[in-house]
Amino acid sequence: MPTKVVPAPKLIFEKSSPGRVGCNLPKADTPAVNLEATLGGVRKELNLPEVSELDLLRHFTNLSHINYGIETGFYPLGSCTMKYNPKINEVVAANPGFTGIHPMQPIETVPGALEVLAQVQDILCEVTGFDEITLQPLAGAHGELTCLMLIRAYHHSRGDSRRTVILVPDSAHGTNPASAALCGYSVRSIATNADGNTDLEALKAALESDVAGLMLTNPSTLGLFEPNIEEICRLVHEAGGQVFCDGANMNAMVGTTRPGDHGFDCMHLNLHKTFSTPHGGGGPGCGAIGLKSHLEPFLPQPVLRRSPLGKPELLTERPQSIGRVSGFFGQFLMEVRALAYLLAYGKSGLPQISRHAVLNANYVMARLKEVLPAAYDRPCMHECVLTAQRYKKGGVRALDISKRLIDYGIHPPTNYFPLIVPEAIMIEPTETECKQTLDEFCEVMITICQEAETDAELLKGAPTSQIVGRLDEAQAVKQLDVRWQPTKDECLV
Ligand SMILES: *Cc1c(COP(=O)(O)O)cnc(C)c1O
Repeated sequence: MPTKVVPAPKLIFEKSSPGRVGCNLPKADTPAVNLEATLGGVRKELNLPEVSELDLLRHFTNLSHINYGIETGFYPLGSCTMKYNPKINEVVAANPGFTGIHPMQPIETVPGALEVLAQVQDILCEVTGFDEITLQPLAGAHGELTCLMLIRAYHHSRGDSRRTVILVPDSAHGTNPASAALCGYSVRSIATNADGNTDLEALKAALESDVAGLMLTNPSTLGLFEPNIEEICRLVHEAGGQVFCDGANMNAMVGTTRPGDHGFDCMHLNLHKTFSTPHGGGGPGCGAIGLKSHLEPFLPQPVLRRSPLGKPELLTERPQSIGRVSGFFGQFLMEVRALAYLLAYGKSGLPQISRHAVLNANYVMARLKEVLPAAYDRPCMHECVLTAQRYKKGGVRALDISKRLIDYGIHPPTNYFPLIVPEAIMIEPTETECKQTLDEFCEVMITICQEAETDAELLKGAPTSQIVGRLDEAQAVKQLDVRWQPTKDECLV
């Protein structure tokens, strides 16, 4: 049964009382300014609620309580790595020495900040097995695009401009084909075989002389490690192409294995997933990229490099560079968080991240297999992709199961992705959840699957415990309306 019913908080406009104020400003010690005359067009009727400081505080606190995040509960949203981000990162990132600097400051005045960036680069080179790292791209998709720009610059530098196609497996994240298109490439899709791996025959057939490269996610978005990775890289290289690794799923590999050793030429990482910056709602992000030395001349500039004496320096005189990809050095405090996180684990601790992530996903997959079989029956990596197909004939879809989870106080997993799995439910528990939490989640999922067989209507009406029910997501995207205004009746001002 639903665990709790959240009462709708009183609207702040309902509490408004004319003349009541929530702040106590000191008397102005400068002459009053006539705003209307100075700025022009100042709105006279602002229609703001007049409430006390306490009412205002309650308003925002109540709003924060109807939000859901990793700090309120389990968040198994597949491919998003919604793990707990240790608070020590925030303590370090809040250091005034980091928050008080400005990107336009003369570079000699911020040696400590450059050292932070250089250390993150050094450690990520070691973690990924690449020769170079740049932290400039501002999101995973931006890292993908930057890598493709490097690949294009590489081909062009060799006088090879015939290559206009990027290969993308049909299980890929939607950003992959989008990045290829944004970079001016056309996309050729590669099929996944019955085991969930890249179909080698389909790959060979697609490897024509117009192929600039392959974008491969490893582990794939099916949560599966690609066993033929070395063979795939060899085939693409033989055909003159480059291989990019979508490394958003690095949580499955960190400290255990390195994409740079698998044959990839470049990859992106999501610092906001694997390397512990809280994310969601559109930011902040860092899509750091790693690359082999043959792509180095094309790095976005400025390039941050250590001098022979180890001092970090910014290099700008690089004629083959693809240019700037962001204004400054990315989201600096994310890099501070990543460094705090990496140093807190230390080299010997890093493998614990991927081992626990993989163990947790396999545990969930094994516990749920009777009610929700895996799309591919083999051990998974950091996430498992299950299918709810058997409930479809009774009228229950994967989305209904996910919406019902909300009534039990748990964030839904990812649905209908990857696109090639019918009624997909993609669960990424992450390494930071303990066995008790996973057990509670699995028991709730089993209960919901029983409800699916006995009371389909219950699931189709879910969620019922929240201040909003099921939203029309398609319409919400098309007619985005995030501003609420009181009607005349609601407004007592
Ligand atoms: C999250 C993710 C991306 C995109 O990362 P953004 O930072 O959201 O742009 C790309 N590929 C995969 C597999 C992902 O999970």
